Amino acid sequence: MNFSTSEALHQEALKHIVGGVNSPSRAYKAVGGGAPVYMEKGEGAYFWDVDGNKYIDYLGAYGPIITGHAHPHIAKAITHAATNGVLYGTPTKLENQFAKMLKQAIPSLEKVRFVNSGTEAVMTTVRVARAYTNRTKIIKFAGCYHGHFDSVLVEAGSGPATLGTPDSAGIPESVAQDVITVPFNNIEALKHALDIWEGQIAAVLVEPIVGNFGIVEPKEGFLQAVNDLTHNAGALVIYDEVITAFRFTYGSSQQIYGIEPDMTAMGKIIGGGLPIGAYGGKKQIMEQVAPLGPAYQAGTMAGNPASMAAGIACLEVLQEDGLYEKLDQLGEKLETGILEKADKYNISISVNRLCGALTVYFGDGEITNYEQAEASDGESFATFFRLMLRQGINLAPSKYEAWFLTIAHTEKDIEETIAAVEKTFQHMQTK
Ligand code: PMP
Repeated sequence: MNFSTSEALHQEALKHIVGGVNSPSRAYKAVGGGAPVYMEKGEGAYFWDVDGNKYIDYLGAYGPIITGHAHPHIAKAITHAATNGVLYGTPTKLENQFAKMLKQAIPSLEKVRFVNSGTEAVMTTVRVARAYTNRTKIIKFAGCYHGHFDSVLVEAGSGPATLGTPDSAGIPESVAQDVITVPFNNIEALKHALDIWEGQIAAVLVEPIVGNFGIVEPKEGFLQAVNDLTHNAGALVIYDEVITAFRFTYGSSQQIYGIEPDMTAMGKIIGGGLPIGAYGGKKQIMEQVAPLGPAYQAGTMAGNPASMAAGIACLEVLQEDGLYEKLDQLGEKLETGILEKADKYNISISVNRLCGALTVYFGDGEITNYEQAEASDGESFATFFRLMLRQGINLAPSKYEAWFLTIAHTEKDIEETIAAVEKTFQHMQTK
């Protein structure tokens, strides 16, 4: 495979854009450096790069692209929005329609607000929780990523962990002091933290199914314990469902486990590929938000017609019967194939999978928390990533990320991917 045009574009980008990328996760730093591949066109499950190479895509733009690239129904909705004017600064009917759709799918959202990114959505839930409880500290789980605002860039998972900077420079200690981090899936640690900081915790913030140190499900009883312990402590439970909303079922983790938080933050899939975030929750909590209440949140682009139209169209596509079952079947086929080939070539891996999202960790032992994910073998992952890329399989360039299937992937794509995995493992075995 020839990557010369990507390489030239990267050299040019380095002159103008810091690090050559507009989001650090796109750099290939964690997989040995060099130019990232520059994509030019996406259609269904496939990508074509600027050198004309074709790929099967499992990056899914880090989560949003569950319908496949350029889905005709979403493309039509965006085109229609563009020709009607993309931004009004007034309310539109589309916002009502989309808010109602989200509420129907996720009933704990008694009231919602649209914003422009997952970061904004989570940031505002934290602010609202602080306003509602009149407390300042929050508890989060090690390795969970909640966006790039100050309070949550503390042991923050995929991006920062990949770069080896769990804490970002430029965050005042006074802010970090209001954030307590405990291990995921560890009820005792949460209990302990709530005891120590009794009366001071505004909220416990959690990815109910982790997506940021790979796909890690909550252990049985964990989410119920989070709710019980947090509520006993007079604090609010915030679910960060930026990855999980509409990824595993039509709805969120709340529909999978039957447990509801006080507030939910969303993003990614609900924008159908356009910029979006949304947060919502119990009415009396949400009424803290301006113009009804004292907690301020605003946005020039918030609820813009194009993002609304794309989001509505995306959820319409996802309402079709059997889609999540199909994702699950494809996911299972992929998981089984990868594990079989690993066994054949004596490569130590474990796979965490839920429905159409999975993570392949190199090394021994199961992965249930960040410490274990961190200990997985990054060098083997980097080799795997490079060899897969050269066979036209596009994965996220980090051992902490998930492979995301879309409804456009076919059995044949999975078979081709498993064949590429086989060649890759064969090569890794003989190295
Ligand atoms: N929360 C989670 C769980 C995420 O995975 C992400 C992004 N990867 C965010 C929040 C931040 O979303 P955004 O990048 O849209 O700001």
